[in-house]
Amino acid sequence: MPTTQSSPPVEPVLAVRNLSVAFYLRRNIVTALDNVSFDIHRGEVLGMVGESGAGKSVTGAAVIGLIDSPGRITGGSVELHGQRLDTLPPEVMRRIRGRRISMVFQDPLTSLDPLFTVGDQLIETMRAHLDLTRRAARDRAVDLLDDVGIPAPDRRVNSYPHELSGGMRQRVVIALALCTEPDLVIADEPTTALDVAVQAQIIGVLKDQCARRGTAIMLVTHDMGVIAEMADRVAVMYAGRIVEIGRVRDVIADPRHPYTRGLMGAIPSLDAETDRLVQIPGTMPRLSSIPSGCAFHPRCPHAFSPCTRLRPATIADAAGHTVACHLAHPVQGAQAP
Ligand code: SF4
Repeated sequence: MPTTQSSPPVEPVLAVRNLSVAFYLRRNIVTALDNVSFDIHRGEVLGMVGESGAGKSVTGAAVIGLIDSPGRITGGSVELHGQRLDTLPPEVMRRIRGRRISMVFQDPLTSLDPLFTVGDQLIETMRAHLDLTRRAARDRAVDLLDDVGIPAPDRRVNSYPHELSGGMRQRVVIALALCTEPDLVIADEPTTALDVAVQAQIIGVLKDQCARRGTAIMLVTHDMGVIAEMADRVAVMYAGRIVEIGRVRDVIADPRHPYTRGLMGAIPSLDAETDRLVQIPGTMPRLSSIPSGCAFHPRCPHAFSPCTRLRPATIADAAGHTVACHLAHPVQGAQAP
């Protein structure tokens, strides 16, 4: 009898399942993340996009175990290469941060110590996590600075952060994030503090270097333009939920959630002539007063009868393009507008 050969499923680097986070305030409990699920594979860039307060940065903080009191993970799981992270003791998690998961933040000055040369910071980070002599770590620091496009790296290795431009400092931060060969880099608004011309270069460096090493990237941004430039897949977040997720090319060609369409309307286009960019009316709701049904309904131009009462289910098509909207999956008996 013939047998069908199918390739084994590829294990994701990061698997987040039904992750929920709440903050226990004096007067009430607010839900910051509500059943968030996604995977990131080796060498893949997953963009997390949404306005301030959507839950992108809380997702990043939950993945690296940095949800501070009064917040806590209330459900779900986070796995790195199959190892559960959300149940690990803080001291074990501390070793994983920096070695297997590293971070690139918006402002390089918060990641770099002004009192030490960039070389010393790279060398100390590597020696804290890897079995390297100081000499070997220095050689590797020079190579890394070269990889991220720092000119004359054998001289620049002796520079202090204030002697470098903003773009160069962010390149050093990328070198620092990659120096321990992590499985996952979390980049939180990595280019927001930079000039537009430098932004594109930094995106190119981060993407190329991670692709070369097979490092997975979770890219947190409010900018759909950065997602289009850098990400392979995108997760659109609203009020603590993922409302749409799919391959960037599919989501850009066919955005199915009205919020995604609103975010895309805010990207200027060189091809289309337009007087004004489209804006989403209203603001992100406060976590303490998330609207019933679909949380986006007060701002949605397409809201209809079930939207105020029923929470839309999250349903995927065959290509994995997933959306949570009653328009995409009509509720039985409800009339779409
Ligand atoms: Fe708009 Fe209703 Fe879809 Fe929510 S579920 S995005 S309110 S149409």
